[in-house]
Amino acid sequence: MHCPFCNTTDTKVIDSRLVAEGNQVRRRRECTSCSERFTTFESAELVMPRLIKQNGNREPFDEEKLRSGILKALEKRPVSMEMVENSINQIKHELRATGEREVPSKMLGEQVMNALKNLDEVAYVRFASVYRSFKDLNEFRQEIDRISREGEVSEPAD
Ligand SMILES: [Zn+2]
Repeated sequence: MHCPFCNTTDTKVIDSRLVAEGNQVRRRRECTSCSERFTTFESAELVMPRLIKQNGNREPFDEEKLRSGILKALEKRPVSMEMVENSINQIKHELRATGEREVPSKMLGEQVMNALKNLDEVAYVRFASVYRSFKDLNEFRQEIDRISREGEVSEPAD
């Protein structure tokens, strides 16, 4: 690590401790050349990879979009929000665990399908049958929106 004062490449760590409940390491360093001291913080990079869409466009991972896609598939199904949130966390964990900066959006779609398979069979079939023919979650959601709007119109009133 370069010294921020004189730019010497050689600095030594004089103290190192865990902070932020163990999620960060704080290091006091001292420059071997000018003797200035400074602090660095080190933490694991928890950035979500960006999604590469079928057409090559990149877009940031959008948790809200993911959640609404899953909730659409689970509409009127007996699945608790807690289970939905667990699945979302699991998906995010898997995406981060790839260590990639960009992953195909298809990968996310497959993860959602797996999650739904565990949560609710009906939601899974709903999602899979529609999603398979779409390029990404966004298109899928629009289609589900359309289907549910039509469903409302054709449902007989009580
Ligand atoms: Zn220095």
